[in-house]
Amino acid sequence: MIRLRRASKPVFLQNKTGKADAKSVWIGGDHPVVVQSMTTTDTADAEATLRQIYALTMEGCEVVRVTVKDPPDAAGLPAIVHRSPVPIVADIHFDHRMALAAIEAGVAKLRLNPGTIRDASKTREVVQAAAARSIPIRIGVNMGSLAPDLEKALGHSAEAMVESAMRHVEILEALGHTDLVISLKAHDVLTTVAAYRAMDLRLRKRETPYALHLGITEAGLLRDGTIKSSIGLGILLFEGIGDTIRCSLAADPVEEVPVCWSILKSLGLREKGFEITACPSCGRAEISVLELGQAVEAIAKEYSAPVKVAVMGCVVNGPGESKMADVGVAGGKGKGAIYRAGELVGTFPEGQLLGALRLEIEKVIRDKYPAYAHETT
Ligand code: SF4
Repeated sequence: MIRLRRASKPVFLQNKTGKADAKSVWIGGDHPVVVQSMTTTDTADAEATLRQIYALTMEGCEVVRVTVKDPPDAAGLPAIVHRSPVPIVADIHFDHRMALAAIEAGVAKLRLNPGTIRDASKTREVVQAAAARSIPIRIGVNMGSLAPDLEKALGHSAEAMVESAMRHVEILEALGHTDLVISLKAHDVLTTVAAYRAMDLRLRKRETPYALHLGITEAGLLRDGTIKSSIGLGILLFEGIGDTIRCSLAADPVEEVPVCWSILKSLGLREKGFEITACPSCGRAEISVLELGQAVEAIAKEYSAPVKVAVMGCVVNGPGESKMADVGVAGGKGKGAIYRAGELVGTFPEGQLLGALRLEIEKVIRDKYPAYAHETT
């Protein structure tokens, strides 16, 4: 199932809380592409931030980043790190004291561009403290915050972003820290793709072995942001580029997580929960595909097994698609034919279809995905 990707140098993320059951995640190497997001709460409000982290985790978020902009945020961090079910990344800009506080709080990773800390001795202090606790660092280059000289020389280009990242890499390597992840985010798809491809070329030439965090920054509101992220990240992931992803949507961050998962599932890179095929419906539809599809989507939330379900409105493509799925329904006049593993199970009145579908779904989980059988009734 897992498509082959370029093997980058993996980094290990685990909150440094001393808890034996602390969740850990690998990013890079041969490990599956990791889904991450970022909280929008005030980090100083640890309870609100944890509520959002729990909500993100419930959707399948595997790493959560929180901003640490000032001492109140840093004060909220120990409780967040200690109680989070997933590794926490501290997002730091400019102020090395926030980085030191985050390291002290036990974060699993820093997002930090060392070149933005003006004083070299402070940079050294942060990097040495991170290395001493095996805390990886993500260099996060955004098109909107390029160094002025790079912007002047190279403009808002992919080349400028790669050059900017390499400056930060050189600082960290010179200080002996090589557990790194790199991101190169622009708000437009083509520049972002070009930047990651250029960095990937370095990986293939073995010049820069670091894992890549993919994202289209400031991608937009829910619909357009989802489309831009899907195209940009989809192109790169399809080419074997990228180790972890975030979809930066101007929306509730919980919305970002299913988008990430849909991208990964569409490309066959990860499995998680149902894959629902539903026809768009048309004048031939003899059952309400939308209503039934939404009901199946609601059922899907109760299970984790990667069951393929087809919801089709009529006999044109219905039987064919239904046979290719684990469970499928093809609409007829006020009724529907249900298929399981390619075989016709029976024909049911429209009002009974959902219940019959659920029964077949549970049978499929028990027979085909026994690891998830405990989720069935
Ligand atoms: S399966 Fe039938 S109802 Fe659905 S889009 Fe195709 S022709 Fe229309």
